[in-house]
Amino acid sequence: MTDKIDKKDQELNKRHNKRMEKKKAHIDEKIAQADKEKGLLLVLTGNGKGKSSSAFGMIARALGHGMKVGVVQFIKGRTDTGEEAYFSKDPKVDWQVMGEGFTWDTQNREQDIKAAEKGWEEARRMMQDPGYDLVVLDEFTYILTYKYLDEASVMKEINKRPEMQHLVITGRAASKALRDAADTIAEIADVKHAYREGIKAQKGIDY
Ligand code: ATP
Ligand code: MG
Repeated sequence: MTDKIDKKDQELNKRHNKRMEKKKAHIDEKIAQADKEKGLLLVLTGNGKGKSSSAFGMIARALGHGMKVGVVQFIKGRTDTGEEAYFSKDPKVDWQVMGEGFTWDTQNREQDIKAAEKGWEEARRMMQDPGYDLVVLDEFTYILTYKYLDEASVMKEINKRPEMQHLVITGRAASKALRDAADTIAEIADVKHAYREGIKAQKGIDY
């Protein structure tokens, strides 16, 4: 009986190894083909949770490699986020927060546009400086959706940034121009969210 099971196991192991060998050869070939380097434009969009936190995860990665990081938060939802408290202490991090709340809070288009322009000034300063290895524009998609800034001039600025500078843009419903220009786009689906079960934003998870 055990002999029979052993034999079956061995057979399964053999088949598994063969499959993995094939897979490895395939992946190795793909890796060997991807030999270019450039500053990437990443767009993290969709209705699910994980856009900003993914961008902040890349900040940790970049800092681990000694890279310099710039962040502009285009919507200041709350003043007590863990990521700002943690990362802004790092001398390699330049963390800028656009002054006001936004749209559904401020209910003031003029004020929103002024704040968007202020944030954009900071973003441009970073994007024109090759000293910044990674720039994150958090919740920037809304600025284009609501036409607070001229999209053509924004795209021009994004496209002419230093060759090796990575740029991450987060926010729901990324525009076509952003998608067209992006090297990597992740669309995070909203499958479930605790909020809909009446659970309020949790410290360390949501902010
Ligand atoms: P996170 O910052 O947690 O990565 P996010 O950037 O993907 O989230 P935003 O659209 O910026 O999501 O929303 C910010 C806040 O709203 C966060 O506290 C997040 O947990 C919460 N949130 C995200 N997705 C949803 C959702 N589908 N329903 C309700 N709340 C959400
Ligand atoms: Mg976000």
